[in-house]
Amino acid sequence: MTYVVYCVEDEEIARDLENYLSKHGFKVEIEGSLVVIHEKEIKKELESFIKDTNKIEYEVLRSDPQTFVLAKMLRPEKLNLQRCEFCGRIASEQELFVHKKTHGIGF
Ligand SMILES: [Zn+2]
Repeated sequence: MTYVVYCVEDEEIARDLENYLSKHGFKVEIEGSLVVIHEKEIKKELESFIKDTNKIEYEVLRSDPQTFVLAKMLRPEKLNLQRCEFCGRIASEQELFVHKKTHGIGF
């Protein structure tokens, strides 16, 4: 099972999360503001990450069983998140525009 945490263009928190999870024995990959975790369920660790690193302005939302959004207290509707119709990735409109080119679509 692979889990994805989307940090909404916040690469700093993505790197902090990568460090934190690596220290706790997770297999983590990072790709810009996207953190990819292999094998283990991470809901609890995401909550401890926020507590342990005192990032109380951040919030975790689970957008589907394998995808989380880690962002400053924003309402989901304000994030303007959209889903890639080809692979299901969630991203901002701007990121998705760039991302879709990886599927060979774009102009
Ligand atoms: Zn896609």
